[in-house]
Amino acid sequence: MTPQIIDGKATAAIIKAEIAEEVKRIVANGGKRPHLAAVLVGHDGGSETYVKNKVLACEACGFQSSLIRYEDDVTEAELLACVDRLNQDPTVDGFIVQLPLPAHIDAQKVTERIDPRKDVDGFTPVNVGRMVIGLPCYVPATPKGIIELLRRYHIETSGKRCVVLGRSNIVGKPMAMLMMQKAYGDATVTVCHSHSATLKEECRQADIIVAAIGRPGFVTADMVKPGAVVIDVGTTRVPDATRPKGFRLSGDVDFEHVAPLCSAITPVPGGVGPMTICMLMLNTLQAAKGE
Ligand code: NAP
Repeated sequence: MTPQIIDGKATAAIIKAEIAEEVKRIVANGGKRPHLAAVLVGHDGGSETYVKNKVLACEACGFQSSLIRYEDDVTEAELLACVDRLNQDPTVDGFIVQLPLPAHIDAQKVTERIDPRKDVDGFTPVNVGRMVIGLPCYVPATPKGIIELLRRYHIETSGKRCVVLGRSNIVGKPMAMLMMQKAYGDATVTVCHSHSATLKEECRQADIIVAAIGRPGFVTADMVKPGAVVIDVGTTRVPDATRPKGFRLSGDVDFEHVAPLCSAITPVPGGVGPMTICMLMLNTLQAAKGE
């Protein structure tokens, strides 16, 4: 079987162009340019890259962006005060506090301090709760991006068996919730994690597998039903001396052996990753429009 490669990079470029067009129209009509702020603590390589890409995406979409940096030794009180300022700043439509935070800071406390109306990551309890009961909210960017990819590639999800691997608050749980909901996936959903005794069997029965565990090559060919759709969220940095940066990104799926079995599959890189930042832009546009 020749699988359809779900091209997140190309899809994200199209969506960013759509957003930029809308921003142009808003500004031409005298409206406000959307403004996304990002708070970055320390110098973690992954976080630096994500935030840099978010700033670039803002430029591509015609947004204003602000980056607020702190060193690793910032106190929790200082960070909370920063969140308070951003909550009150009328020029900022939405903001994110890049995770992970240093161990001496309670990340949950910081997240809960964010005004849900500016919580474009969709991580505050108010947004999570609204998503669960199907009310308008900011949907976390990675699962939102996956839903958008499935939609744009006309992949039928209604009534299908979907297995989500991983149960994190930022990917696995919201992904399972969206795939279950009538307005999004409308699928029959099973969630597996590190204590799932029947994970392989569950995967073998799945029409759609979403792998979000951070274990390179975990999903092997013997776990995939012929014709399944496989979405690979994993992005683990694997040391690779042949690459300029000294590492490559590895997905959770053994792409080489799994792809020939699939009807459609996302690559890593170039699949889910570019969609995530793009959905953050969509959430910021939503915030700027006051929706
Ligand atoms: P996380 O918070 O570390 O959660 C990992 C989940 O996978 C946990 O629920 C864990 O189970 C489960 N798990 C770990 N090892 C397992 C195993 N051997 N068998 C079954 N389940 C296992 O990770 P995350 O933040 O959700 O991220 C997952 C992956 O996606 C990472 O590679 C991350 O870099 C990537 N990611 C990519 C994007 C993107 O835009 N492409 C965005 C976010 C994350 P327990 O709950 O039992 O511990």
